[in-house]
Amino acid sequence: MTRTKRRDKVSNQNADEFRGQILDWYDRHKRTLPWRAENEQKPDPYAVWLSEIMLQQTTVTAVTPYYRKFMDKWPDVQSLADATQDEVMHEWAGLGYYARARNLHACAKVVAYELNGLFPEDQSALKKLPGIGDYTSAAIMAIAFNKPATVVDGNIERIMARYFSVEEPLPGSKPLLKSLASEFFENYEERPGDFAQALMDLGAGVCIAKTPRCSLCPVKNGCQSHAAGHAAELPRKSAKTAKPQKFGYVYWITDGEGRVLLHRRPEKGVLGSMIGLPTSEWGSKKDQKKPAHLYLLEKKKPGDLREKPVSIHHSFTHFDLELRLQTTEISRKQLKDNTYFWVDPQDIQNYGFPTLFKKAVKVFATT
Ligand code: SF4
Repeated sequence: MTRTKRRDKVSNQNADEFRGQILDWYDRHKRTLPWRAENEQKPDPYAVWLSEIMLQQTTVTAVTPYYRKFMDKWPDVQSLADATQDEVMHEWAGLGYYARARNLHACAKVVAYELNGLFPEDQSALKKLPGIGDYTSAAIMAIAFNKPATVVDGNIERIMARYFSVEEPLPGSKPLLKSLASEFFENYEERPGDFAQALMDLGAGVCIAKTPRCSLCPVKNGCQSHAAGHAAELPRKSAKTAKPQKFGYVYWITDGEGRVLLHRRPEKGVLGSMIGLPTSEWGSKKDQKKPAHLYLLEKKKPGDLREKPVSIHHSFTHFDLELRLQTTEISRKQLKDNTYFWVDPQDIQNYGFPTLFKKAVKVFATT
């Protein structure tokens, strides 16, 4: 298949040929994944939705144990809707991007209580549900309901960029890559779910990020960047700007009788609704000399706060964080805010801390 810089439309014949080659390969090489329907099985929309939410910005390897745990505990949308938000957040702890877990639970409630437990078989209706955007709605349409929808994840973007030798860098080229993919997906009614999953598998195993395995690829004869010998250089990416650096304190605060203070973070914001150790505000790096301490510690003298010799570092999507670790004691009477509460240290593991606080607990325990 050839394309000029004007990017003519792919002919129906060429689109059929491309899909046929991809699907033949898929029938021989598809991955076995716990959320994937096998052979004649009908896909379970709940399993497809749950896995697609978990897989956003997260690898199959990281997601698999979480997916299995969720399915064991909540095998259908009704059981997930009936869980408390705390239970869901607790089981999600460690997977990151915690807004996904809050939206997952909110979406389960809408589907279970307002839609009779059925996910809508319509992309615009799916997009009205919490946490479901363009990509996830298309994936559910294609994979769960086998209906035509243009599914474009990072793997499929990479294949399109290489197959059509798109030189424009990401993320600016996203609309173009989506429109190229749509030429294969749009109005394709035969096996849209398999076709989407086939491209995902090809991207995960053959058209891989750094060194594409073109000799194994079913569409190498039509691939423009392979022919030009520069497949590994695509897709190009715009230069990244450095993430801002934030700074703060995390505290191990005890009550003099061995109990440790925990905090439920506000619903809005980073790690929203998650339980962890108390922290100060997170300021910019230039505030490092005078970070605002947790309000409970405002009256402490400098010597009352004992600092650990090491800091912890954690990278969020939009900033990097450095937290210094301090220990101190306060009296139980000082607590006036019910988002703070005391626990026995051995019970901390029951609270499903996010990774940031797991790191902090480890350092407090070992230094
Ligand atoms: Fe990717 Fe190579 Fe296949 Fe082209 S030939 S789609 S670069 S694996």
